[in-house]
Amino acid sequence: MPKYHKLLILDLDETLVYSTEDPLLRNPDFKVFQYHVYKRPGLDYFLSVCTAWFETAIWTASGFEYAHQVIRQIFPETDQLKFIFTSKQCTLRLDYELGSYYVLKRLKKVKKKGYPLEKVLIVDDSPEKSMANYGNAIPIQKYEGKEEDCELFLLLKYLEIIGSLENVRQVEKRGWRAKISKSETE
Ligand SMILES: [Mg+2]
Repeated sequence: MPKYHKLLILDLDETLVYSTEDPLLRNPDFKVFQYHVYKRPGLDYFLSVCTAWFETAIWTASGFEYAHQVIRQIFPETDQLKFIFTSKQCTLRLDYELGSYYVLKRLKKVKKKGYPLEKVLIVDDSPEKSMANYGNAIPIQKYEGKEEDCELFLLLKYLEIIGSLENVRQVEKRGWRAKISKSETE
């Protein structure tokens, strides 16, 4: 397997898993506190490829305890992860127009850990959280429990393309699905 010398930061909720107090019609993969947690289709395969290709980390806006419990269930060995960031590392910003707060994942904190940002990718279903570093963000569709979801398989194909770039920030990542279909027909 290739090794891309990049850091891949993955969001948790609605990106890798769907967590809900109201269960779906099928059994959850596991439970954490009062939440029924459903793994996104292909998750185990996706994570095994990601950890082989990249340095991998998790950054969720959820709380520390919940995040660590979910991660323990989906990563057979947690030491495969470079770091786990939770709500504690997120930044709250006030939207003056709406008068409400929103959450930011500021990659400045990752840079401080010694990762050059041209080699950092962050996958999130809410791209507004990575607004401060949109050049690093790969937006992904929200996962809300559908069994026929194939987003992680598509994303792997894209990660293979973008993984080999010297500077990941130089390419436009919105609309990435069109790029995989193009590379497949070439
Ligand atoms: Mg999310």
